[in-house]
Amino acid sequence: AFHRLYSDVNAANLKVQLTHTPKEKLAPENLTFGTTFSDHMLEIDWDAKDGWHDPHIVPFGNLELHPASSALHYGLECFEGMKAYIDGEGKARLFRPMDNFNRLNDSCARLCMPKFNAKEVEKCLEELVRLDKGWIPNKEGYSLYLRPTVIATHPILGIAPAARVKLFVIASPVGPYYKDGFKPIKLWATKEYVRAFPGGTGNTKVGGNYGPGILAQQQAASRGCSQVLWLTPGTQCNGDLFCTEVGAMNQFFLWKDKKTGKPTLVTAPLDGTILPGITRRSILELVREDPEIKKMGITVEERHYTIQEVCDTVKDGRMIEAFGCGTAAIVTPVNGIQFEDVDYAIPAGKDGVAGDLTNAVYHKMLSIQYGKEAHPWSVLL
Ligand code: PMP
Repeated sequence: AFHRLYSDVNAANLKVQLTHTPKEKLAPENLTFGTTFSDHMLEIDWDAKDGWHDPHIVPFGNLELHPASSALHYGLECFEGMKAYIDGEGKARLFRPMDNFNRLNDSCARLCMPKFNAKEVEKCLEELVRLDKGWIPNKEGYSLYLRPTVIATHPILGIAPAARVKLFVIASPVGPYYKDGFKPIKLWATKEYVRAFPGGTGNTKVGGNYGPGILAQQQAASRGCSQVLWLTPGTQCNGDLFCTEVGAMNQFFLWKDKKTGKPTLVTAPLDGTILPGITRRSILELVREDPEIKKMGITVEERHYTIQEVCDTVKDGRMIEAFGCGTAAIVTPVNGIQFEDVDYAIPAGKDGVAGDLTNAVYHKMLSIQYGKEAHPWSVLL
């Protein structure tokens, strides 16, 4: 029999099967994050012998999985979160989509799952978004959340690299992350739970990083805090507790440097324990290079910093503002941290919502994502 050679994804071979039963769409105001899905999904299967099969767009529906699939037993699963937006001219746009597929490849590699041609998968995703464009809510703050996922469908209980995987993308129309708009949140810094550690998987978006965080998140909520500020003990065992990230966001602090007094934006370095957020990268680039934001005269530092340093900065009155950032909420102002049952208040601008830098990067990101200004990060479909 004819045996095909090992192959990579080829978007030119995309097959499209349209739904016969398009679903009714909710009014944007009635959307709840991640609960409704568009009419179609993308699926690409892989096996160790033939490589990547032809990509398919099919009607949205359940997957059929062998109960021994190693995604279900050993967490051989990774994912991405990205969004499609409608701009002022009614056109669909993506934000730095190749960054998501490159990161998905890194997550696959960490789990010994196969890599794929990121550009070809990105082209297939563009087709899905074009096809389900009517599912992108046409309203600022709203978007179509896209969830590329890779699971091991390998039906053997042995703990081993998967010989079969499935890549799929589903799409969910979403509203603004915070219903009452831009609003500051409080963080709970805890020593009890650790999200990531040297040699672990913190720098990849594997499902195993998220499930265990829910318990900590619940305890944060019971203390009146919205998110967990994840701490990681330093490797020198001298009691250092490095601040890493917040919930599923990267974290930034703007404070007056202890020595120079100059406004300094501090965020954790990509040392292997931090997810390399695309929003994080974009904000770092904006603060370093955007002509308007540069005028604020802020020094940027990607470096380790401890929770003690954060608490001392608040006590000294040098804290200026703080925010978390990620695809879901873009930018979230932070107005307080609770650590060891002590509350540390962080200034949240003149209006009590967000400081000047937080506002500036938030509005700049929105403006780029919704195509209000031409920018290479925004990909027009
Ligand atoms: N950190 C974690 C742990 C996350 O899950 C996310 C969301 N992907 C982020 C940071 C922010 O990353 P991005 O800006 O790419 O959404």
